[in-house]
Parts: sequence; C-alpha cells; structure tokens
Amino acid sequence: MKVTDHIKNANGKTLFSFEIVPPVKGKKIQDLYDNIAPLMEFNPPFIDVTTSREEYIYVDKEGLYDKKITRMRPGTVGICASIKHKFDVDTIPHVICGGFTKAETEYMLIDCHYLGIDNVMALRGDAMKDEKYFKPTDGGNAYASDLVSQIQNLNKGKYLHEDVQGEDKSDFCIGVAGYPEKHLEAPSFMSDLKRLKQKVDAGADYVVTQMFFDNKKYFEFVEAAKDMGINVPIIPGIKPIAVKRHLQLLPQIFSLDLPQDLVEAVESCKNNTEVRQVGIEWAIQQSKELKDAGVPLLHYYSMGKSNNIKAIAKAIF
Ligand code: FAD
Repeated sequence: MKVTDHIKNANGKTLFSFEIVPPVKGKKIQDLYDNIAPLMEFNPPFIDVTTSREEYIYVDKEGLYDKKITRMRPGTVGICASIKHKFDVDTIPHVICGGFTKAETEYMLIDCHYLGIDNVMALRGDAMKDEKYFKPTDGGNAYASDLVSQIQNLNKGKYLHEDVQGEDKSDFCIGVAGYPEKHLEAPSFMSDLKRLKQKVDAGADYVVTQMFFDNKKYFEFVEAAKDMGINVPIIPGIKPIAVKRHLQLLPQIFSLDLPQDLVEAVESCKNNTEVRQVGIEWAIQQSKELKDAGVPLLHYYSMGKSNNIKAIAKAIF
C-alpha cells in the first residue's frame, strides 16, 4: 500500500516506522531480521531500506595497493523483497542518483514493480567518500528532482527510450528528503525549500525529514513549507544519539545543531551505555511532543541495533 494511503487509513493516529541499513557484504541477513523482529509489535506500516553508493577500496597486492571500486552494502531491492515476504510489511527501497545511470535506475524500478513494491524514496545521494563534492554519474540523474521525474515518467509508461502503451504501468508513491536545518550544500534555508518544492512539483507524494534534535526546527520547517505551497505529508525523522562521538559526527556530517541541554547531558555520561539512555530519553520527549502535535507518522533511524528504538516505541505507541 502507498505511504499516503497508510496515513489516510490511520485517521489521524500517529504511525510508527523505521529505516534499516543493508548488512555489509558477507554478513548474515539473519542479524537484520533479529533487529526487525522486536519492532514488529508496534505495527510499522512500512520499513525503509537504504542504498549506499559505490566506494573505493585499496587491495593489497604483494605490497602494492590496487584501487578498486565496490559497493559495500549491496542488495537493497533483494532485502526489501525478503523483509516484505518474511514479515508481511511494506518495504521502501531508497533509490539514489549517485553511482547509478538512469538505465540502471530504470531496471531497479522495474524489479521493484514486479516485486509488488508500492513506494520508493528518491534521493540524490552524497559525494563519494574521498571526494568533497557530489558529481553526477555519467548518464545518471543530477538531482533528486530529476529522479522523481524519471519515476513519474515510468508511472506513465514512459521508459527511457520507449513509450509503452500496455496496461501494466507502475504506480509508485514517491518520498523525498527534506531538511529542517537546510541541506549542507544549500546557500540558504529558503533556496533549499524551493528545491523541495521542485521535487514535490515533479511528483513527490511525501517528505521524510533529516534527523533533528529540536522540535522547534521541524515545526518551523513545516510552516515554511506550507507557506511555499508544499501540501504533502512531512514525516519527521528521529535518531536517538547512541555514542559520545555523535556530538562531533552528527553536526559534521549533517550540518545540524544539537541543543545545549542534550550536549551537556551526553558530555556528563561516564560511558556509552549512559549515552544510549540519554539518547532514548531525549527521543521519547521529542516523539511525545510531535505525537501530541498530530504528526502522521514518526520515522526512526535505526542504525543496526534496534533495542533503543524499541524502548522509544514502547513509551510512545
Ligand atoms: P537534492 O534534493 O537533489 O538536493 C541536493 C542539494 O542540491 C541541496 O542542497 C539542494 O538545495 C540542491 N539542489 C536541488 N536541486 C537543485 C538544482 N536544480 N540546482 C541547484 N541546486 C539544487 N543517502 C544515501 O546515499 N542513501 C540513502 O539511502 C539515503 N537515505 C536518506 C533518507 C532520508 C530521509 C534523508 C533525509 C537523507 C537520505 N540520504 C541518503 C542522504 C541524501 O542522499 C543526502 O542528504 C544528499 O546529500 C542529498 O540528497 P537529496 O535527495 O536531498 O538531494
């Protein structure tokens, strides 16, 4: 079912969903299942599965290092299919521009359609690990809005090189990313919001936000988006802090601000077990306030171990 229909059918009740990351090549999928299983009692209407782009690795060849390109966490569509089958839940593959040609994207979308996947998240992706700026792949999409257009074309039976008149067209519901504290590359909050409007005008059906730790940022973002004529659901993305290093990493990677109360609470922790507890409590407070404000769905970033997400969900749902 489409995300927008899940929201409609909930009749104003706030839903719970979460995102998972495919295992590193060679790791068992069972670990993923073991982390998903405890969260199923909270009835997620869907689970998102991220996609990682390719990266360079250096292979030791008798003392000389050979630079190779590889994808460390492949398998997004296969994982979506296996989770959908195992847990009888909708799954949402993330489709990214970086590292994929438009033709490869088309094949991935066709696979998704055959697998009965109704939703996709359309994202640009980041720069490669050892590159500073994002460079579009030759023959690939440059921005998420271009990708949304490609998916919408497919929904109309327009493939890259041919128009198909058959009755078996895809009908993907499309999610895109939004940034309550603006995307790190955007010159201003308003210019980033205009880019978000462009994605919605191209056919995006809903928005999932980047993580934020101060709900005020989300509420202001939603208001500004409405003022700009963005009328699709804006789903808040919540990440509980889990280790002390997040104090440096999260602002650095995502260009976001951490509230001083949270910084001080984490700094006063003696170890990461205590930090994890602070992260859970902060996310519970955020979630309570967002739920009381009537958000349609709370979406959690679960980076591997799900016990902190379970503790939050238990307090909220
Ligand atoms: P875009 O919407 O294309 O925007 C990128 C930047 O370009 C912004 O600064 C925007 O303001 C600007 N811009 C947009 N259009 C134009 C234009 N026409 N001209 C000039 N500037 C423009 N990354 C992954 O690799 N895999 C994932 O699975 C993944 N999942 C994510 C899920 C969520 C909910 C979120 C919030 C992010 C996710 N990301 C993922 C990260 C995302 O790929 C990065 O944040 C990326 O840097 C931007 O992606 P985007 O889709 O927002 O890009």
